[in-house]
Amino acid sequence: MKDNCVFHYHLGLTVFSLFPGVIVLLLTHSLIWFLASMVLVNIFGLSRKNIFLAISFHVLKPMAGMFGGEGFVAEEMVITLGSEKTLKKFGGGVPPGRILLLLPHCLQRHDCQRRITYDPYNCVRCGRCPIGELLDLADRTGVKIAIATGGTLARRYVKEARPIAVVAVACPRDLGQGMLDAHPVPVAGVENTRPVGDCLDTQVDIPTVERRIKELMSPPAAETQG
Ligand code: SF4
Repeated sequence: MKDNCVFHYHLGLTVFSLFPGVIVLLLTHSLIWFLASMVLVNIFGLSRKNIFLAISFHVLKPMAGMFGGEGFVAEEMVITLGSEKTLKKFGGGVPPGRILLLLPHCLQRHDCQRRITYDPYNCVRCGRCPIGELLDLADRTGVKIAIATGGTLARRYVKEARPIAVVAVACPRDLGQGMLDAHPVPVAGVENTRPVGDCLDTQVDIPTVERRIKELMSPPAAETQG
């Protein structure tokens, strides 16, 4: 998993570095300058501008298709780099009440009758799906929680909650695109798993969600004083 993240991190950096590299190549007609600019971008890391992430996504997406790439390489790149950037900039500094834990509706057990999209606390935490444990996690850490059926509702919840940062759970396709759409709100992403297929009874690794929240959270007041 860690190796996968490192791969996507460097893949993203390399795609990023193509843009200044091509510009330099056009201006100077020099392959050496082109290569040098790619190396420099890789050494100095990410641009602060999200636009490069969006451009990289839209370049990599058709390229991955053309070369027969399966899966969600472009989305994985956005998730890895976007999360990295969010944690680098905001890690350890966000009050829990200003973090929004944004979940997809497909985590809810398909035959559960509780209406949780407008109020997650309608869940009675019966243990048949991850929603109950995620509510326990939100209670324990003090973060806000919202459950969305799609991008429109997700954007509405982000607008209403006005978080400093979001921890979002979704499938790679929705998460990658959602992280780009959420700009300028920073997002740290966690991919769900889909043991019975897309959009039905999905699962998520709760310790990973908890780790993401704690990486963003500022320490409790007592700890900061000590
Ligand atoms: S934990 Fe139980 S009550 Fe809550 S959403 Fe899942 S199935 Fe429904």
